[in-house]
Amino acid sequence: MGKVYLVGAGPGDPGLITVKGRRLLENADCIVYDRLANPRLLSLARERCRLIYVGKAASRHTMKQEEINALLVHCAAEYETVVRLKGGDVYVFGRGGEEGLFLMEHGVEFEVVPGISSCTGGLAYAGIPITHRGLSHGFRVVTAHDKDDKLTKLDFASMAHGEETLVFLMGLSKVGEIAAGLLEAGMPMQMPAAVISHATLPSQQIVSAPLGELAETLQCRPLSSPALIVVGKVVSLRENLNFFEKLPLFGRKILIPHPGRESSPLTEYFEGLGAKVTEVCTGEIRGIPGAFSAEMLDGIKCLAFSSKHGVDAFFHGLFALGKDVRSLAGICIAAVGSATADRLFSYGVHADLIPSEFHSDALCETIRRKTGFAGEEVLFVKVRGSLSPCFVDFGVHVAELYENHPMEEESIRAQARGESYTDMVFSCSSAVHATAKALGAEVLRKSRCFSIGEKTSETLRTYGIMPIQAQRADLQTLAQTVMTGGK
Ligand code: SAH
Repeated sequence: MGKVYLVGAGPGDPGLITVKGRRLLENADCIVYDRLANPRLLSLARERCRLIYVGKAASRHTMKQEEINALLVHCAAEYETVVRLKGGDVYVFGRGGEEGLFLMEHGVEFEVVPGISSCTGGLAYAGIPITHRGLSHGFRVVTAHDKDDKLTKLDFASMAHGEETLVFLMGLSKVGEIAAGLLEAGMPMQMPAAVISHATLPSQQIVSAPLGELAETLQCRPLSSPALIVVGKVVSLRENLNFFEKLPLFGRKILIPHPGRESSPLTEYFEGLGAKVTEVCTGEIRGIPGAFSAEMLDGIKCLAFSSKHGVDAFFHGLFALGKDVRSLAGICIAAVGSATADRLFSYGVHADLIPSEFHSDALCETIRRKTGFAGEEVLFVKVRGSLSPCFVDFGVHVAELYENHPMEEESIRAQARGESYTDMVFSCSSAVHATAKALGAEVLRKSRCFSIGEKTSETLRTYGIMPIQAQRADLQTLAQTVMTGGK
């Protein structure tokens, strides 16, 4: 019999899960998750981990709690480590207690890993401290949704004195009733109040108004669930404490199309600055079977890599033959840029040469000038496809060890979800072609398009797009360019 871990996923921002929760996700054999747990967290799971969704499906059918309880027992019988991932904290209106009791009754071992609840974390991201000396000496967290979906059980009289911060969960459709209840019980019309939707996520939105005007204000600016309602003097601190919406990229929706399934390092960086980022995998990176041979290295004095994928494909081939880095002893290693050099380093290999500009012409020039090797002493590892004229003229050996197999246009469209983006960030020409073909050049023209370097910019221009180009062709400079808008 396995063990079930009831894990709090945090309120939304995937960075707000606990270290223990994250470790469990990485080791789980099965994850049972619902609607409020950020799906991004699921990418932490191992490849063979079984993922079971128990939230609202497209048909809007929600799995009944009894069914979920039974499912957990069933999963524990089948898998060693089962993670039951829940939004926010497990025990704050999360029905974690019911699941724990059921597991206990059925002899299934379980543990609880608490999470950051939306009632504290969500408020914090809205710039509202749930308590504050002199303004609120406590807080009350209440559900606006009971078994019969009625508010009648709420004791508004005991809440209306304004000494405590009040947080209502599951109450978006009942803002009017809640406000009326509190006002009727004697709470002042001017009491600060707010509704926070999608708290801690880049889509966070807040409507703030005195309690007497909250419902009306919300009618003019409707918000979508999940949402918190907060009432209390602490709401007035929001203007000064609202750090999240002041992040430099808050409100920006950025599309990052790139080949390969590996997540772009830009994503985490932009998200950390408040942007909503969508990655699109434009092509599958596939090794070419049989393309690598040990003899390739015979007589080679310089080995040049044009991308991190080339590095992976090379070592994959080398290791498959039972060889290792010792085969590279005495060979000068050149990398097109810092990302490629970093990938080489992960295999224990230092790049001897990195050109000052990160593109293949510069790589070729650097090898020519700095090493003095003849062309046939150089092996250039690259993607299948055209070779830059500079390398052709130099007469190097070429090892095409992998290919960038384009994704179906339909898949690219599905990943982009038909949304509009303020910015699109391109780090290679193949991503430009794939995105423009799948989404249509006019969609790209509606966004600001950023390009890593001259080749990518040239490709963008062929679609009639005037890109903002990074001053230097590396990811760091590209990230800076997006931050500043190229100014
Ligand atoms: N266990 C969760 C609460 C589950 S009840 C927790 O600790 O946060 C679901 C309710 O939580 C929603 O109806 C909404 O009121 C609130 N909620 C959860 N995540 C939220 C978010 N990111 N933004 C706003 N409200 C959220």
